[in-house]
Amino acid sequence: MILLDGKKVSKDRSLLLKNKVASFTVAPTLAILQVGDDERSGAYIRQKKLFGEKIGCKVLHISFPEKADSKEIFEKIKMLNADTSVHGIILQLPVPSHLNSQFIIESIDPRKDVDGLHSENAKKLSDGDTSGFIPATAKGVISLLDAYKIPIKNKKATVVGRSALVGTPTALCLKNRGAEVTVVHRGTENIPGKTKSADILVVAAGHPKLIDVRHVSPGSCVIDVGINLVTGEKLEDEIPKKKLVGDVDFEAVKGIVEAISPVPGGVGPMTVLSLFENLVLAYERSRK
Ligand code: NAD
Repeated sequence: MILLDGKKVSKDRSLLLKNKVASFTVAPTLAILQVGDDERSGAYIRQKKLFGEKIGCKVLHISFPEKADSKEIFEKIKMLNADTSVHGIILQLPVPSHLNSQFIIESIDPRKDVDGLHSENAKKLSDGDTSGFIPATAKGVISLLDAYKIPIKNKKATVVGRSALVGTPTALCLKNRGAEVTVVHRGTENIPGKTKSADILVVAAGHPKLIDVRHVSPGSCVIDVGINLVTGEKLEDEIPKKKLVGDVDFEAVKGIVEAISPVPGGVGPMTVLSLFENLVLAYERSRK
């Protein structure tokens, strides 16, 4: 079994990115907008800031209060769109329920939409037009497959999950690379039949142990995108610790499949890397 080590691939590629950034006259700059103080979002932003600064980029964390209205967010985005020292703008998701995230994202200049969620970039991905930005997780999945030279063209791929953020762009990326893609979701019948026939199985549902031995076949490659916080085993008198797991029962399937990405240490680090690859791309395009 080959372990698809996203942590290692991301580390290697971040060095290349760091060298590239060092040759630029100014630091590529990312603005991250956060509304409210969701704990998990805060942790993701810290992770992005740390990664970005390590490779020589600037990361601006712009916070709005939980009750912020869309008008003040739009005003800030308008300023950032016009600011030539800012190359990328992202809205940290989720936002409080009184706000419409897509509505806000549509106000970001598509040339600075390094999360690739603006409808203009989503359309480009759907059309196979490479001049836009690919959402970071989808880009990370493809980069991980490429790093391990896993063939995509003419392979059968199944994606579990069809969100605009992860499942749909990943399916489109696989299709654009010549795979025959099936997308399954919560309402799909006979999911094991559709996952078992896949050469490449990407799982992005948000359910621990959703995929087990019934869903995979020998020789396949499994990419686990899921991030779930679960309570670990209770050891004697200790309070059980929380731990991160994916959507795949790793221990159960690792003896069957040919390659699998772990959680943590698989797609997660590739996602952060891909976001900054997009930022560097936005910087380079802004210079042309
Ligand atoms: P989402 O809730 O928006 O979408 C989940 C999708 O999975 C939906 O299309 C739903 O129909 C499908 N689904 C849910 N339960 C299912 C089931 N039992 N069987 C089949 N399909 C099912 O979630 P999302 O934003 O797409 O994220 C999915 C997972 O990926 C989450 O665990 C999230 O934390 C994780 N994630 C990881 C990264 C990363 O970098 N590794 C990035 C983003 C999201």
